[in-house]
Amino acid sequence: MKGPSYSAAELLARLVRFDTTSHKSNLPLVRFVEDYLAQHGIASQLVANADGAKASLYATIGPAAVPGVALSGHTDVVPVDSQSWTSDPFVLAERDGRLYGRGTADMKGFLACVLAAVPDLLGRPLAVPVHIAFSYDEEVGCLGVRPLIAELGRRFVKPRLVIVGEPTSMSVVDSHKGPVRWRIDIQGRAAHSSMAPLGVNAISVAGKLIAELTRIEEELKAAPRDDRFDPPYATLQITRIDGGTATNIVPVSCRLDFDVRALPGVDIHAIDRRLRAVASKCIGEMRRVAPEADIEIAIANEVPPFAAGNDSEAVALALHLAGQNETHAVSYATEAGLFQAAGSPSVVIGPGDIAQAHAADEWVAKDQIGKCMGFLTRLADWAERGKPIR
Ligand SMILES: [Zn+2]
Repeated sequence: MKGPSYSAAELLARLVRFDTTSHKSNLPLVRFVEDYLAQHGIASQLVANADGAKASLYATIGPAAVPGVALSGHTDVVPVDSQSWTSDPFVLAERDGRLYGRGTADMKGFLACVLAAVPDLLGRPLAVPVHIAFSYDEEVGCLGVRPLIAELGRRFVKPRLVIVGEPTSMSVVDSHKGPVRWRIDIQGRAAHSSMAPLGVNAISVAGKLIAELTRIEEELKAAPRDDRFDPPYATLQITRIDGGTATNIVPVSCRLDFDVRALPGVDIHAIDRRLRAVASKCIGEMRRVAPEADIEIAIANEVPPFAAGNDSEAVALALHLAGQNETHAVSYATEAGLFQAAGSPSVVIGPGDIAQAHAADEWVAKDQIGKCMGFLTRLADWAERGKPIR
């Protein structure tokens, strides 16, 4: 079937018009993509969220039963609230060889390139299929891709490898840190502050946990470094605290949030166990006064760190297609860690600079879009034959 053919810039203009800020529905964009693919005779499969307001899209070009190369990207964008933009963030504007608009770098530029490559891919007898995997809610903790990944090997063929098109300025990224967020809720007992022994001070208990977390932070900093990352160690930050009711009341509750940006290889669960050991000692002391006292510790969100490994076929292919011989590590997280953990070797490479992502007047250079299209053409060349990379 011969469907419409558009340039990546034309498709990007269409995609930018959909306000897919993470808290909104991405369905209008998904319907547009579904319709575009249908015009080329490609069926899309959707994985909807619980209330049906958002969906991931999965589609395959080429032999359906063969594990192929997945081109992965998220459809959602970060908010433009309280940012000052020169032009409407949801209308693509071209100035000085740059395409401005929310999501142009992160990462509708890549999505547009993938869609623009469809007619070329369809015109070839592919030995290795190309899968399109577009997710939602990436910007709020890589949430939307998880139900899609759960279908790999079930509803969908598990990809042989995954290319995640986050903005890397078209250089090959083979590792990133993994952000993990904890939430701690401390339940003490209120009392008049003059009668302190009758109460359990939730803020004082938080202080003991903070002391332990600060020790862990120092240890992570002193651990062997990986100079490919900036900073070259895992960070731990207490990012939020909220407790107490009045100056003369022993605080009954306290909430504490902290965030770890783990290097590949850092044992997140060892940190969790250590924290729980201190907490359980505290609970023992607290319950001598107040049997209802408690400390709840929960990992609110975890994106695994990503390390492709030295023998990764995904990295070898990306280097081959990009004509490069050097890989990079980044501190921001992507869906690559999740795909890799699910058994699909992954790599990150995409158009645009992460420095422009999330910023006002976000842009992607037209030259980057051109490089990405070249990369996808070489991917199509390779997928026709599907020879091993090495
Ligand atoms: Zn992104």
